[in-house]
Amino acid sequence: MEPAIAAIPAQARSKQLRACLLCSIIQLPVDFRKNGCPNCEDVVQMKHNPDRISSCTTTYFDGVISVIDPDKSWVARWQRTSKYVRGMYAVRVKGRIPEDVEAELENRGLKYRPRDQTDQD
Ligand SMILES: [Zn+2]
Repeated sequence: MEPAIAAIPAQARSKQLRACLLCSIIQLPVDFRKNGCPNCEDVVQMKHNPDRISSCTTTYFDGVISVIDPDKSWVARWQRTSKYVRGMYAVRVKGRIPEDVEAELENRGLKYRPRDQTDQD
């Protein structure tokens, strides 16, 4: 069985990285700028939108995990990321998405779950 969690190189934990408030994926700001969020871009629309990037992502996160096989990983299930792309994700992300993004989610019948672990099952 393929290990679900890979060691994160020290430099990857640099403060340069930002975590998406919605799906908790961690990327460099330049990646959010160029490609938006690989999971929730249709809702957050961060691509080429620095204001959106600063309101929908944060440098305040911890517990970095690497999701290699999102369909099988128990970590992914626990993180509710099973439909997401493989990549680095934060265990905890501090902050909330802006209200208009939350409203947009509701329009789509989705319930926003903050990633700061105040929303325990
Ligand atoms: Zn996202």
